[in-house]
This record gives sequence, C-alpha cells and structure tokens, in this order.
Amino acid sequence: MATEAERTRWAELVDAINEARVAYYQQDAPRLSDAEYDALYSELIELERQHPELASGESPTQTVGGARSEMFEPVEHLMRMYSLDNAFDAEELDAWFDRVQSGLGAVPAMLCELKIDGLAVDAVYRHGRLESLATRGDGTVGEDVTYNAQFIPAVPKVLDPVDGRVPALLEVRGEIFFPVADFDRINAEQADLGLPVFANPRNTAAGSLRQRIDRRERDLDAVRAEGREGARAEARVARLEAELRRAVERLENLRLTVHGVGAVEGVEVHTQSGAYDVMAAHGLPVSSRARVHESAAGVRDFIEFYGEHRHDVEHEIDGVVIKVDELALQRQLGETSRAPRWAMAYKYPPEVVRTRLLDIAVNVGRTGRVTPFAVMEPVRVAGSTVSMATLHNAFEVQRKGVLIGDMVFLRKAGDVIPEVLGPVIDDRDGSERAFVMPTHCPECGTELRPEKEGDKDLRCPNTRSCPAQVRERVSHVGGRSAFDVEGLGDKAAAALLHCGLVENEGDLFLLTADDLLRCDFFTREPGRGEEGRQLTENARSMLANLRGSVDRPLWRVIVALSIRHVGAPTATDLARSFGSLDAIAEASVEELAAIDGIGPTIAEAVHEWFAEDWHRDIVDKWRRGGVRMADEKVEAGEQPLAGLTVVITGSLEGFTRESAAQAVTDLGGKVAGSVSKKTQLLVAGENAGSKLDKAMSLGVPVVGAEGFAALLADGLDAALSHARPEA
Ligand code: NAD
Repeated sequence: MATEAERTRWAELVDAINEARVAYYQQDAPRLSDAEYDALYSELIELERQHPELASGESPTQTVGGARSEMFEPVEHLMRMYSLDNAFDAEELDAWFDRVQSGLGAVPAMLCELKIDGLAVDAVYRHGRLESLATRGDGTVGEDVTYNAQFIPAVPKVLDPVDGRVPALLEVRGEIFFPVADFDRINAEQADLGLPVFANPRNTAAGSLRQRIDRRERDLDAVRAEGREGARAEARVARLEAELRRAVERLENLRLTVHGVGAVEGVEVHTQSGAYDVMAAHGLPVSSRARVHESAAGVRDFIEFYGEHRHDVEHEIDGVVIKVDELALQRQLGETSRAPRWAMAYKYPPEVVRTRLLDIAVNVGRTGRVTPFAVMEPVRVAGSTVSMATLHNAFEVQRKGVLIGDMVFLRKAGDVIPEVLGPVIDDRDGSERAFVMPTHCPECGTELRPEKEGDKDLRCPNTRSCPAQVRERVSHVGGRSAFDVEGLGDKAAAALLHCGLVENEGDLFLLTADDLLRCDFFTREPGRGEEGRQLTENARSMLANLRGSVDRPLWRVIVALSIRHVGAPTATDLARSFGSLDAIAEASVEELAAIDGIGPTIAEAVHEWFAEDWHRDIVDKWRRGGVRMADEKVEAGEQPLAGLTVVITGSLEGFTRESAAQAVTDLGGKVAGSVSKKTQLLVAGENAGSKLDKAMSLGVPVVGAEGFAALLADGLDAALSHARPEA
C-alpha cells in the first residue's frame, strides 16, 4: 500500500503533469522544458509501478496528450490515435526488445524513423479527397483544423491515383512541423510585433496550425461590410489584412511527414514500411530516412547515426521511433490505453532546458562593442554545463522579453552557442526587474554610443586605452585565427597589462624573458640550485611561441590587428589581393572596395584603421619584433579557380584544414564553411562527417584527396573526373 507521503506525491505529480499538458497542448506555451516534463512523467510511472493501485483511469499515464481545447470543433478519429512509450537509454530500449521478444518469440524486423518534434495530426481521405484534418486531442477526439488545411501546401488535398485508382478510404497520421530554418525568422517577426516568442519549432508549428483563420476572415469581412470611410477605418482594415496575411504565411510554412495509417478501405497493406510505399505512391509526404532493420544491432546503429546527425535534418528531432514492421505482429502485441506495445520512442538528451536568469551583465569586446550577456544558474544542456549566453544588444534583450530573475528557456543545439529563447512568463512573481543598458563604459567610464545612427550596438569609443578593449585585443593576438600563440590567453593578457609589461598589443613581439621576470604571474619560486624567481613553464612556452609565430601567413597578421569587420575570410581576400601589409595600408577605399568579397563598409574600416597613428605604431613594433608583413608567394595574377566555391571537410593528407583552404584561395577559389545548394564541390578527406551526408543529399559533387590534387593542379573539370558516384 502506498504511504500517505506517496499518495501526496502522486497527486502533486498528476497536477503538475496535467498543468504542463494544458500549457503545451492547448496554449502552445510550455512552462516546463520537455526534459523536466519527462522527468515528472518518469517519476509518476515509477510510483505507479510500485503501487499499481494509484494508476487510476485519470492518471496521465493512462491517457493520451491533453484534453481537446474549446477553440475548434471536435472531430472523432476513425481509429484511435496513440502516444508512444519512451526509452531514455540503451537499457530501457533493451528492456523493450525483451518484451517484444517474449510476446512474439523473436525480435522481428523493425522500422526505424526519426521522431519529428512537431504535432500529430490525422487526415482522412475519402475517394482520394481530403475530408478532414484534425489534431490528436485526447486520441479519440481531436480538433478540426480542416479549414486551415487549404492554406498548407504540404497537405495534399487530393491523392494521386495509382493504376488509375485511389483507396475508398485512407486515414493517415503524421507530424506537422516547422522547419528549423524558418523558426528564427518567425520568432523575430513575432517579437517585432510585440507578440510572445515561441519556445521552439514544435510550438511554432502548433501555434501556427491552431489559428482561427476563419474568424480572422470573418472579422475582416465584417469590418469591410460596415463600409466606413476615413483614415481610422482604413487603418483598421489594413491591420486586419496584415494579420490575416501573416497568419496564412505561417500556415504556408508548415510541413507534413506521414508516419502511420488508421482506417483503410480499398487498399491492402501488410507492413508499416509497405504502408509508407502506398502513401508515397499516392503523393503523401513520407520520410526518405525510414529504414527497416532486421536486428537490434541495426536499430542501435540507426539511433547512434542520427544522434550524431541530429542537426543535419531540416526539422527538429527529439529521438528515433522504432516500430515492429509487420502489421500482423503489431496486432499481436496490441496497445495499452495510451501507447502501442509494438512501438517505442528512443529519446535523445534534451537540448532545451529551463534555468534562472540571475543577472544580465555587459562585456566590452576588442572592437569596443558593449554586449549584454545572461548570467544563469548553471544548467546541463546538450552535453555541457552552461551558465552564460550572449544577448547581443539591448534591443535583443527587449525583443526576447526577459527580465532579471525570470525562469528562461535555454537552447544549445549540439555544439552550437547557447541561446536564451525567452521567459516563462507564467512563473513570474513580481520580483523580476528589467535590464537597464549602461550609458557609460563599465571599464573606463567613457560615454557609450552607437557607431552610426540607427545601429543597435553600443560601443565604447575609447578604443585606444579602454582597459577592456586593450586586454581583449592583446589576448586576441594569441587567438587561434590570429597568431595562434599557446600561453597567450585572457589571463596572460591581463597580467602583461597589469604589470605594465606591454602598453598594448604592439609590444608583444618585443617582450623578453627579463620583462616577464618582473611579473609574478609569469614566475615561480626558485628550485634547488636556482637563484631568484624563475619563469614558469607556461611563460617560457608563451615566449617561445611568440618568437615562433612571427612568420605566420599574412592573413593571420591581418586578423590579429583587430580591424572591425575583418575576420579570417576578409583577411584572406586582402592578403591574396595585396600580398603585403604595406600595400593594404597604402590602398585607397576604392582600391579596397574593388576586391571581390569586400564591400564599402569593410573597405572604409580598413582604410580608417591604417589612418590612425597609434595603429601604425603597432604595425611598426610588430615589424621590429620580426613579424613578417608580406606573403612570400605573391599572386601571379592568374586565378584558375576564380568564381568557384568549395567546402572542405575531413582530413587530407599533407594538408591542415587551413593550408588546404589557403591553397584554394591562392588560386582564386572561395572556401565556404557549410554545404548548401550553391556549393560546387565538396572536398571530403578521411573521417568526413555530416557535411558529406549533406552534400550527398543535395547532389553536390564530392571528391577525395586525389580529386583535390587534381583541382589544384588542373582545375574543376579535372577534379570532377574524380567525383564519387552518388550514394
Ligand atoms: P511523444 O511526443 O513522446 O510521442 C508520441 C508522438 O510522437 C506521436 O503522437 C507523434 O505525434 C510523434 N511522432 C513524431 N515522429 C513520429 C514517428 N516517426 N512515428 C510515430 N510518431 C511520431 O508523446 P506525447 O504524448 O505526444 O507527448 C509527450 C512528450 O511531449 C513529452 O515527452 C514531452 O517531450 C512533450 N511534452 C512537453 C510538455 C512540456 O511542458 N514541455 C508537456 C507535455 C508534453
């Protein structure tokens, strides 16, 4: 028997889960992250496993999704829609394999597919025509969104005939989703209009599908019918028209992937995968990534593959769904009141979590940009612990609508930079406060200002001596895209300045061991037989690395100068076109802007930079310190790869990633960081990963080391003769 405390906990969990379901399914505004919801749900399952008497029919473990909202007309599904059971690790998955095996006597062929993070819909086609589109609701009765379907191109309105025939009845289940690429754009628009931002693409999809377009149209017609004249009436009509247009645009962005069948007449299917073939033949969008695996090992490989390639898919996925392929075996295993026993959702670790926004602080960057950033209660997300995230500028803080003290949703997709998505407004208790952007530099007290009118970023104009900017610039010189000096990081930069060993980045290459001995940070107590304080290992290696880095290629020298807008790609363009720093310094704005890839803003930034005396001092000091200011191999003028864009991935023997890229740019080609339809060639070395898959899926030609050598020696056509056959 459950104790009093366990009963109380059970009731608490049920309340919390039901509340979360209402916010998630009916209001499209989750208050918990999925991971938090899953944790509550797992705890409830465990409690009911120990005390089965608690698992009454009203428990969320016995019901599907959330109750239907009153927003739409009810529509009864022809066949019940189910949820899915979850496995969160290999052990739970194995336990399911065991259950299937004991039910069927063997582990049968399994269909593996992606678990799309969208919302489930049910579409009924009678004699090939779409009759209704509905949300899942409680699994029996959903919400009727048929009216909206007409605006969703992804939902076929008529089925393609096969051999001149369409099934008398075809009820299909699928997932409506919002492509990741469109999510940020829609959220930015929401915020600009002062509307709440969506927590994730899933909620964007749900919020988009569950709009009352018909009511908007009615309101607009009614206002038009009033026939009022005058500026106010016109403005009202214009506003309603714009709102309707936006609402329809969001529907147009929705996509559909079908992943199941319900009631069927006039067509025979025997397997899940066979059903997909039938649906595809009738023009329904099925996933090209579904695979049937005969063994548990194959299923595990599929899970592992998409765990690594989660972000190479156009929609968000929160896991993989594994289904017994043969329908007769599915029937044999049957369903519980909530989920089929013949399917399992394997969930990947969460990428959206909730945490407390403790403060918003500001950071002054090396080019003077003052950036607010979120300081959060540390939280684990997508494999690492995160406690800070940039908020870009004060407008962005406002756009996201976050207050200091808020609970916020935080996203970190794979190895992507953490991002605060927005606040959990319902969790506010009134103690939260708005962030106020400082008017003066927190480090040097100079009044902040935008560089030009209309700029969203504020800057500290004291570029020469603002301690924060100097410190950031000094450590940037050691950065990976600049001189790449091991040992010269944030702390060393701060120490060099604090001890007065350098005034700014100009002095770095003139540093001596004697200089460093004057600063405790770089020294240690003498050991046995030594006299006086000695340089630490780190200090010695920093000094040696500084000396060793003086003949880096010109583009790295340019990057190290911290010129606004000039990162590695622009620096490479400059180095290639001018060949020496002196030539760049002497170039006019027009000459600079004439370079492919360099616009007037960058040209002006470069020109202005060299016009400052103290900047030229930096260059002079570096020269005195032995830094090479010109590339040995000056452009021969001929650029056989001009106009070509390639992407390089994996490792190529004899090249580092950088030297391979350099070889391409030296010949006039461009190297892009990611594969798109515009990529003309992917050079894939050993251990190439997701870029290779993407190139294959987009039909971009792929060459290996041999093809790369041919490219450099004889150009694109020669390389293409080595292209791999399409996968
Ligand atoms: P589920 O999302 O775990 O699994 C069932 C659903 O998966 C199906 O209804 C279907 O829509 C979908 N699905 C996607 N791809 C599929 C495929 N290839 N084949 C079959 N189905 C596929 O279960 P659920 O009951 O819909 O929702 C529970 C989940 O929803 C939770 O685990 C959580 O992630 C989320 N949730 C979050 C909150 C919150 O507050 N954040 C609240 C409620 C639910």
